[in-house]
Amino acid sequence: MYGGHIGIALAGKGYRSTVPLWVLLIATQLPDWADAAACSFGSGSPPSEMLSHSIPAVALLATVVAILYYAAARDTGGSALAGAIVVSHMIADYITGLKPTWPGGPFVGVELYKHPAVDFGIEAAVIVFGWMIYRRSLPSDRRDSSPVNVMLFCLLLLQLAASISFSLFPGMKKC
Ligand SMILES: [Zn+2]
Repeated sequence: MYGGHIGIALAGKGYRSTVPLWVLLIATQLPDWADAAACSFGSGSPPSEMLSHSIPAVALLATVVAILYYAAARDTGGSALAGAIVVSHMIADYITGLKPTWPGGPFVGVELYKHPAVDFGIEAAVIVFGWMIYRRSLPSDRRDSSPVNVMLFCLLLLQLAASISFSLFPGMKKC
């Protein structure tokens, strides 16, 4: 999943506005950043996706994020939310990709990236849904402000660009 991850972080921010949005954005992107790091610096064995998107890897990343946020903010609900957002990354990726579960385990995923138009529809729906939850948490005089609307427009544009590139370059590897 691509822009949908950001939609999920926005929904988290709307659900619990005391957690800074940047914390939730890091949480929602962390498995992909771990993948890029493992891809760039690892030996390729085990594969970077096993180190970043498998169930044990995501459980570890989610635990680290939850502990760090708890240490910084002493907010049990907020740290549980940050950890849950990391886990949501893996589940959302099952919709668009094909991900390893555990060493020697099966790969799971619907691989919507093979159908870029459907992928765009689903991810756009996640983005709009997350943005609506976020928007609802704002003070009423800010809900219709341009930055809030521009945010939705930019996220949908970003997703459209991603979905078009997936259709032009099928099977594109991240690294
Ligand atoms: Zn991912």
